[in-house]
Amino acid sequence: AGYGLPRQVTILGATGSIGQSTLDVIARHPERFSVYAVTAHRSVDELAAICRRCHPRYAVIADETLVPRLVELLGPGHSTQVLGGNQNLCEVAAAPEADTVMAAIVGAAGLVPTLAAVRAGKRVLLANKEALVMSGALFMDAVVESGAELLPIDSEHNAIFQCLPVGQSRDLQGAGVRRILLTASGGPFRLSSAEMLQKVTPDQACAHPNWSMGRKISVDSATLMNKGLELIEACWLFNTEPSRVEVHVHPESIIHSMVEYLDGSVIAQLGSPDMRTPIANGLAWPERIDSGVESLDLFALGSFHFEKPDRKRFPCLDLAAEAFKAGGTGPVVLNAANEVAVEAFLAGNLSFTGIASVIETVLSSAPVSPATTLEEILAADHAARAEAQVQLRRFQ
Ligand code: NAD
Ligand code: MG
Repeated sequence: AGYGLPRQVTILGATGSIGQSTLDVIARHPERFSVYAVTAHRSVDELAAICRRCHPRYAVIADETLVPRLVELLGPGHSTQVLGGNQNLCEVAAAPEADTVMAAIVGAAGLVPTLAAVRAGKRVLLANKEALVMSGALFMDAVVESGAELLPIDSEHNAIFQCLPVGQSRDLQGAGVRRILLTASGGPFRLSSAEMLQKVTPDQACAHPNWSMGRKISVDSATLMNKGLELIEACWLFNTEPSRVEVHVHPESIIHSMVEYLDGSVIAQLGSPDMRTPIANGLAWPERIDSGVESLDLFALGSFHFEKPDRKRFPCLDLAAEAFKAGGTGPVVLNAANEVAVEAFLAGNLSFTGIASVIETVLSSAPVSPATTLEEILAADHAARAEAQVQLRRFQ
């Protein structure tokens, strides 16, 4: 892809929380970025509104039964071409005209299109952590092979990336790094007792104290599975191991993570909890652009706090670490069971504490096998989902 200006951007998951924040940053810089393609699962109204505002070349609705509806919403003569189906998500992610791909689909559904962008050698802005958790080695090998430019958007990983020397984000030893301090907000139930956790509702779980996000990642933040997924994500992105990554609960969510060097220096990245900062960082890297985020008011904040995560009340953190250590399909099974359990919780069919129970049971019943090919990964994902559905009934 030619890196002339404006850069042509494909946004996978444009209607979501990250997708909308990406569109907000792009709209501030029409001379730098142009929206090439936008995609969504089923939200046709939101996708049509984006098309009217941004005039992308393509709009892809993954549920192809909704293509006629989207065409109708846009009306005759609209410059955006409407496409449907999963194959077209991959087409717009890998199209020669696209320079940059924002991978912001939630969950395993994002794996194949994100990998298509990687294999096509794009600048890939990675928000869809589940894709990397599922396919770690395959994903990172594909980055090296294609020469794709992988930039982390998850706020913690973007912070770590910013705290590392340029060009050495996969050579921590060479960079003189002792450890990574991965910060966590602790979620909405940081101070809730184990008894209270059994009764919390989906709306309580989705009311995150600092960040406004999609519902799935909000529940993950509340169980600390999000931090577990991020621990795995950090190990793949920065070529390291869990023993070198220490989770620090920091309820203010202002320090987005830190890197400690051999000489005792600790470098932190700070900012308001607004995803437009890491998104702007990835879009413009290595340059800096305005993201619309206001200056940080440290006087108003006054102080920062740190505590260790409670691994008893929040067992998902250790479940993730164990799945990563098991290797192979371990993280695939972890992620699939989590997605099924979170969906059941959001639908009112599983208690909050049942989420960890379902995942633990599925993990212990599924043998770990190699996850070297996409086919093996997708097969393990399907099998774990089926097993999680069976286990769900036991915990209802
Ligand atoms: P969201 O639920 O708000 O949006 C998800 C997007 O993916 C929507 O556009 C939706 O249409 C699309 N999508 C969902 N299922 C799909 C499917 N089966 N096929 C195709 N498209 C599908 O989610 P979000 O909060 O924007 O999160 C997106 C990703 O970014 C997640 O992986 C999340 O972990 C990660 N992330 C989000 C935040 C945040 O602040 N929201 C922060 C860090 C990382
Ligand atoms: Mg994060």
